[in-house]
Amino acid sequence: MSLSAYIHIPFCKRKCYYCAFYSYQAFPDTINAFVSALENQIRRSPYAGSQLRSVFFGGGTPSVLPLECYLRLLDALNDVFDLSNAEVTTELNPESVRNLLNSELIGRFTRFSIGVQSFDDEELSLLGRLHNSSQAKDAYFALRDAGAKNINIDLMIALPGPEHLKKLENTLETAISLDPDHISAYILTPEEGTPLYKKYGDFNEDSSSEPYIMVCEKLKQAGYEHYEISNFAKKDRRCVHNMCYWTQQQYFAFGPSACGFDGIHRYRINCSAKDYISKNGIITPSVEETLDTDQLFSEKVMLSLRLSDGTDAETLAKICENETKQRFVDQLISSFLARINESGGLSLTDRGFLVSNSIISELM
Ligand code: SF4
Repeated sequence: MSLSAYIHIPFCKRKCYYCAFYSYQAFPDTINAFVSALENQIRRSPYAGSQLRSVFFGGGTPSVLPLECYLRLLDALNDVFDLSNAEVTTELNPESVRNLLNSELIGRFTRFSIGVQSFDDEELSLLGRLHNSSQAKDAYFALRDAGAKNINIDLMIALPGPEHLKKLENTLETAISLDPDHISAYILTPEEGTPLYKKYGDFNEDSSSEPYIMVCEKLKQAGYEHYEISNFAKKDRRCVHNMCYWTQQQYFAFGPSACGFDGIHRYRINCSAKDYISKNGIITPSVEETLDTDQLFSEKVMLSLRLSDGTDAETLAKICENETKQRFVDQLISSFLARINESGGLSLTDRGFLVSNSIISELM
């Protein structure tokens, strides 16, 4: 069992039009007080001394942190945990990349994940992003020039608006030409209550198939391994942190609204940033789910079918103890939505990934 840590930075310069994550705009004093609280939570971790496989700074927009705050948090993590073999990632947005362009800081992260979303300026303004396409490219080159060796680009697909397929094709060509180590391509799901939802409703219910298949084909042709429904990696560049989520490993949660998993309980640091600061980062996590053996197995099925590796043979055999599920698996294979993989387990195909929610719910 490997251990990881998720660090939630709940600040953004402005809310994107599709986003329902917990984040808000903060002034420097608040950011400073928040970082002190976070440092305190890290330094008082009951898991001090553990060796971590990965650390992920997510948000929000971690790159709104000034250099000195980033360094304080990395120092705290290094003092408390063994990070000698850890993948250490920060998310960043193109418009705040300059906060990261310091040789010491660049050297202490092993991976950078840029929230590009699209290389089309019309689509970027439709999403309410603060950057344009050329700023996204500049951010990528600035990171590479500063020594970043492992970079992910986040994209969004199945956007509303005219000519999305053509724009997506251009976005993919630009992304491929930059040669990032990893590309994530998420189908945009507008969250209820967001400006995008109010304007377009649930627009992509039937329109995600063509963009998704285009992404799968183009990225595979460009040499990326399609290793998870929405994730594509160059050789040996799978995201270690996300693999920890998808293989039911344990992860610690730091920061307000961060989630953690101890192998049985899924929990959340359930508080606002204001409460988090006033309690100096010491909040009792709320257990949101306690998983028994059957639930752990169902979750294992669900998570492993997200991956191209799929389930192992033993898990498939257990699924097929139920005759109805056995027949369903046979149908999936004969209709090319799934295949028997190299380990004798079950993996979904690209077309299977597209309807993975309904397939997985039948098999859990
Ligand atoms: S930058 Fe990310 S977290 Fe912040 S508002 Fe935009 S999508 Fe949400």
